[in-house]
Amino acid sequence: MNRNEELFEQAKQVIPGGVNSPVRAFGSVGGVPRFIKKAQGAHVWDEAGVEYIDYVGSWGPAIVGHAHPEVIEAVREVALDGLSFGAPTEGEVRIAEEIIKLVPSVEQVRLVSSGTEATMTAIRLARGFTGRDKIIKFEGCYHGHSDSLLVKAGSGLLTFGNPSSAGVPQDFTQHTIVLSYNDIEQLQNTFDKIGDEIACVILEPIAGNMNMVQPIPDFLKALRGLTEQHGSVLIYDEVMTGFRVALGGAQSLHGITPDLTTMGKVIGGGMPLAAFGGRKDIMACISPLGGVYQAGTLSGNPLAVMAGLKTLEIIQRDGFYECLNRNSERLVNGLCAAAAKAGVPLSGQYVGGMFGFYFNDRIPQTFADVSASDQEAFKHFFHGMLERGVALAPSAFEASFMSAAHNDELINETIARVEDYFGI
Ligand code: PMP
Repeated sequence: MNRNEELFEQAKQVIPGGVNSPVRAFGSVGGVPRFIKKAQGAHVWDEAGVEYIDYVGSWGPAIVGHAHPEVIEAVREVALDGLSFGAPTEGEVRIAEEIIKLVPSVEQVRLVSSGTEATMTAIRLARGFTGRDKIIKFEGCYHGHSDSLLVKAGSGLLTFGNPSSAGVPQDFTQHTIVLSYNDIEQLQNTFDKIGDEIACVILEPIAGNMNMVQPIPDFLKALRGLTEQHGSVLIYDEVMTGFRVALGGAQSLHGITPDLTTMGKVIGGGMPLAAFGGRKDIMACISPLGGVYQAGTLSGNPLAVMAGLKTLEIIQRDGFYECLNRNSERLVNGLCAAAAKAGVPLSGQYVGGMFGFYFNDRIPQTFADVSASDQEAFKHFFHGMLERGVALAPSAFEASFMSAAHNDELINETIARVEDYFGI
């Protein structure tokens, strides 16, 4: 047994499934998860001493590369003054100002510790603001694990979602409607029937939890038009896309302005930090100003805030997103070209530092499209790449992440390993 195998056996004795978040267990691809000992730049090393070029990036936060020296130094410095105070700090003010500057639809922002908290609270806020109960989400979008969002599609239009997890009472999901991403007609029909009862619509403006799926332009336009017309709150869940697909997030690319935005991952630079923010009149409903309750012992933790502030500083440097875009483009093109040479149907796309590839000859537009891609081929490819020292997300339903530390040499090396896998 190597060290990863030993640790996995030990972990399973004391942690359910051996992991603290399910996808880490390699459930959908099989095999033994790698226990990571350290990370630096574009690389991670496992407990058996094996080095990997990493395209997981801690599931999104590591946009400036792992353990960036400036981020580490900033955190080290602030740690010497204490780890948590449970009182307001200057750092919180500075990061709020920075977020508001970079994401113009956000007029006020509150910090929390996870994306789950951010989306759960944004929904409570939308309900409190509108005085309505019903919410709309889309199949394949993930917004964390709060009860009312752990929902799968019902059997037809206007049937309410069923819990997708044991332990969630049907009552808790009875107000959640699940629609199909990019289906304008279904959205229109729903709003025609019950638009005035909808508190909010929440979506990933570029979906990254069903691999990567982009909205068709008219879908977002319809969403914004219908929510405005019916007084429903439009929530962009940019926990993944925020500061990742562009400096101003997905909302800076599509010309649509949401009412509320949730953020996470990149804003914490690898520390537990997330946020929700948006229109001032809506944010005024949050406690202590308004009647919608939300709180957190570690909210705005000084170390997390400092890691976030330094990360936000680095991503604003000249050429940062041009570099990310170029890296992603080269890798996706290399992947597709290698598969094409080998006669394997594979398509791919990217936006900024986020990319997706599918064992499918078309780029998917819905959850059903993604599900129709070849899962067995993905599994085989995933393990083939892992054996060749390239770490990809261990599921065909996850997006992949590029960092600024992935230089030309590493991308070329990755493509060479892909070509080796395909035997060309
Ligand atoms: N929203 C989106 C779009 C996400 O991708 C995630 C996590 N992958 C979450 C919410 C939940 O965030 P967290 O895991 O920090 O609770």
